[in-house]
Amino acid sequence: MSNACVGVIGGTGLYDMEGLSNVRTEALTTPYGEPSGEYLLGTLHGVDMVFLPRHGKGHRILPHEINYRANVWGMKKLGVSRMISVSAVGSMREDIAPGKIVFVEQFFDRTKNRECTFFGDGVVAHAYFADPVCQSLAKSLHEVATGLDIDTQYGGTYICMEGPQFSTRAESRIYRSWGVDVIGMTNLTEAKLAREAEMCFSTMALATDYDCWHESEEDVQVEEVLKVMAENGAKARSIIGAYVQNIPEETGCSCHASMKNTLLTPKEAITPEVRERVELLLGKYL
Ligand SMILES: [Zn+2]
Repeated sequence: MSNACVGVIGGTGLYDMEGLSNVRTEALTTPYGEPSGEYLLGTLHGVDMVFLPRHGKGHRILPHEINYRANVWGMKKLGVSRMISVSAVGSMREDIAPGKIVFVEQFFDRTKNRECTFFGDGVVAHAYFADPVCQSLAKSLHEVATGLDIDTQYGGTYICMEGPQFSTRAESRIYRSWGVDVIGMTNLTEAKLAREAEMCFSTMALATDYDCWHESEEDVQVEEVLKVMAENGAKARSIIGAYVQNIPEETGCSCHASMKNTLLTPKEAITPEVRERVELLLGKYL
């Protein structure tokens, strides 16, 4: 039995984790406030799983309203070592058709008003973020998806916009000229925090439609988008299920020591209150 604990943050179209055994829920209060809701815990094929819908039960929380820090801190507290962020995205490329699943390698930040670090207020640490996802985890998931005959792509850039409105046509065209692959509103913030929490992290970007640069965009029917979203949710579940069924014991990455040598504040300058706040994340370096 694997000692990995897999966390899944579900997005639009993935609000539940079916098929878990030994199911229980856990409500956490964190040093960063309240998470999006209760965590759903259980086992899938013998692997410990933790699930959280990022928009809350009933989809009530906008992307910029999500308490990302609390959500990721809770995952860490519950023992998650590998985190999969499932995210509905718009496609920025013709060859990423609605329904395709992209395991991105890079992000571009267009967010504006978000808390995206656990540190500050008396403790300074700078995480390395040149390679923002765990390539080992992302490659494993991509291989699993390929094995399931799902239309999928490894690599690409996710541009993370603030929202909640979608892009203007001018923005969408400019982003395309920058060479990005998909556009969403949530995953970069989770990637930053997962890195600070020393977890393996992979985005599973589910293309629901083309962003507004595309000529077909005006003809898109809401029913069609909802249908693609539902199908994408089913694909995400099957990929996660197949991944944990044959979960690689080792990831061979350095995610679990990513904050080593990143702390700039001398230990003796960190007050007991601050220490308590960051103990879960930096405790082994203090
Ligand atoms: Zn990793």
